[in-house]
Amino acid sequence: MLETLRKIVQEVSAAPDLDTVLDLIVRRIQRAMRTQMCSVYLFDAKKQRYTLMATQGLNKESVGKVSLSPSEGIVGLVGARAEPINLEDAASHPAFIYLQGTGEERFHSFLGVPIIHQRDVLGVLVVQQKERRRFDENEEAFLVTVSAQLAGVIAHAEATGSIHMVSENHQTILESRFEGVPAASGVAIGSGVVKTPPADLSAVPDRPAGDIEAEIRQFNRALAAVRRDIRVVGRSLSKRLRHEEQALFDVYLRMLEDNALAGEVVERIRRGNWAQGALRDVVKAHVREFNAMEDPYLRERATDIRDLGRRVLAYMQEAAPSQIEYPDNTILVADELTPAMLGEVPTDKLAGLVSVHGSGNSHAAILARSMGIPTVMGLVDLPYTQLEGRTLILDGYSGRVYVNPSDEVQAAYQEIVREDQEVAAGLEQLRDKPAETSDGFRMPLWVNTGLIADVERSLERGAEGIGLYRTEIPFMVRDFFPSEQEQMQTYRAQLAAFSPRPVTMRTLDIGGDKALPYFPIKEENPFLGWRGIRVTLDHPEIFLVQVRAMLRAAEGLDNLRIMLPMVTSVHEVDEANRMIDRAVRELREEGMITERPPVGVMVEVPAAVYQVRRFARRVDFISVGSNDLTQYLLAVDRNNPRVAGLYAPYHPSVLRALEYIAQEAHKENVPVSICGEMAADPGGAILLMAMGYDVLSMNATNLPKVKSAIRGISYARASELLDQIRKMDDAEEIHLLLRSTLQELGLGQLTRPSIPDGT
Ligand code: PEP
Ligand code: MG
Repeated sequence: MLETLRKIVQEVSAAPDLDTVLDLIVRRIQRAMRTQMCSVYLFDAKKQRYTLMATQGLNKESVGKVSLSPSEGIVGLVGARAEPINLEDAASHPAFIYLQGTGEERFHSFLGVPIIHQRDVLGVLVVQQKERRRFDENEEAFLVTVSAQLAGVIAHAEATGSIHMVSENHQTILESRFEGVPAASGVAIGSGVVKTPPADLSAVPDRPAGDIEAEIRQFNRALAAVRRDIRVVGRSLSKRLRHEEQALFDVYLRMLEDNALAGEVVERIRRGNWAQGALRDVVKAHVREFNAMEDPYLRERATDIRDLGRRVLAYMQEAAPSQIEYPDNTILVADELTPAMLGEVPTDKLAGLVSVHGSGNSHAAILARSMGIPTVMGLVDLPYTQLEGRTLILDGYSGRVYVNPSDEVQAAYQEIVREDQEVAAGLEQLRDKPAETSDGFRMPLWVNTGLIADVERSLERGAEGIGLYRTEIPFMVRDFFPSEQEQMQTYRAQLAAFSPRPVTMRTLDIGGDKALPYFPIKEENPFLGWRGIRVTLDHPEIFLVQVRAMLRAAEGLDNLRIMLPMVTSVHEVDEANRMIDRAVRELREEGMITERPPVGVMVEVPAAVYQVRRFARRVDFISVGSNDLTQYLLAVDRNNPRVAGLYAPYHPSVLRALEYIAQEAHKENVPVSICGEMAADPGGAILLMAMGYDVLSMNATNLPKVKSAIRGISYARASELLDQIRKMDDAEEIHLLLRSTLQELGLGQLTRPSIPDGT
């Protein structure tokens, strides 16, 4: 059964559109279960009806015509209960209603299972037999398993279909909406530019051919290059291969001939598709055919075709390196947004960012926030390759993306953009005012930086220091480790711009979701793997060069602080301290006048929470990395959109840990700051102030909002709020209380604005 299941899923996943997906599902399930009928009903949320979408066994004319409301029939009941219903005789069930014209009267036994994707019932799968009998346990288990596995494929095909209708019929521009995870607040209205990984056929976007003959020429050149490569490989292996094995290369070459793959691609280009898109479609169609074959040898040919396709694509992409024209208000769309991609679009053109993978605390999201670019991530059902040139609205408050939005939705969002601009203009007035509560408590507000552009924005917004400079960011946008001299220059720019204000430089924090292209770390479980200080202690040459560069950069400025990430045990702090001492000693021996800078540790793993006092005795400051601390305390991957709803910075356990850390650090008279994203939330900042944090460090974008919140409340009121929250059990309730408190204080504009109804 497992093999049957695998084949069904594979075949269905490769189907080009929703109709084919559903048709394959009913045919394959009917065959696999040897039933007389298999049908699928899909739920239309707007119409509130289940419609028969495909069938084997009922009258085909009923497809698309027969439908039921959720309170009708056994199909409605399966959907409402969201569980399987298995009956010996459907007609004798009280919920049964007869669907005229379908021919269902021939069948008695009934097994229906819901199709559920991300908690939503998408539809119902039904099998029936003429015979009166209950389907057995294995049959029920099989149908439940197929349904669970196919739900994602159906959701994806539905989403793709809704966008396709637009391209095929320009008269009816249909709006589609996708739900993701909010990653950087704000609204962007603009057009999609799709960023694809190289040589990935499935990521080739739809695009019309500009000059058809030029597209064909480009394809033929790539084809000739691949033929040449295959011949060269064939010849070089000729002595080591048997004759029959050598024949494989001839098979390969034949696949590329004009009357095979090549001819079909050219034909598609002539019909108006650009060469890469035509290649993608032809390869996909062949892969589908081969995958469906019974013969394992022939099935394997799918791999060959895919490989050939990739090779041809790689040559085409090389010949036409993507000279992307970025329109005004570009919304960059990617499968997986990386920090490096953010730098590729000219800042004056970049309006928003959209990513299929990742979540609100992925590092790309953190950077987007610090650049103030509205971003939505984790749009797992988004057919992203089809968004090139489409009008998009991105709502970074709710995590929604609209494709081809209607005029009403556009107007509603334009209003939000206008309101946001008004709020921003009001906040600008606060630049030179202190972050002081109404009863006179001063709360130092610092910034988190990584890009050189952050410095100017931070100073403009009145930051009093840098609480976290993510040094890995300049490491990421390069092809190899920067030299000590280069690092020194980069760090000097940050230190000099901020002098005499303090600048906290974190030593290299790679691993997890932060990869260096030239130092790949491949691990099953990277967030529990070789990360942060663990990497740099294993590579003293990298650590020492970095610390030396920092110390040299600070010469004469003396505003450097060094911070160690991902620390779990005191011996890591001792070792790092020894290396920092050594770097200071070496530089003094080389004639430099250098003081040992203050050194601090980040508390971002649960083990560190319980050792704060021990750490505090060894360092000059403590800084909490609440992004990682939240992920490790709650066991929720900060990058995974599936569990984004569980990533709750206001979880009572997280708040308890944060308060405990501040108390413990103060017992040793060591100052404690926070540099996780929680400090950037106006409500979070008020709580952290009440907990006793000495410094709040955040992205420059949110600093004015946080300042406004601090100035709008008294320290006494913030302490009362904390008291109240300490007694609460639930993260969502705490979040709501924070929001309503801000509203009461007349600070409602600092929280998410209302989203238009009915959109
Ligand atoms: C944190 O984990 O809270 C933190 C500030 O570090 P990063 O987000 O870079 O992991
Ligand atoms: Mg961290």
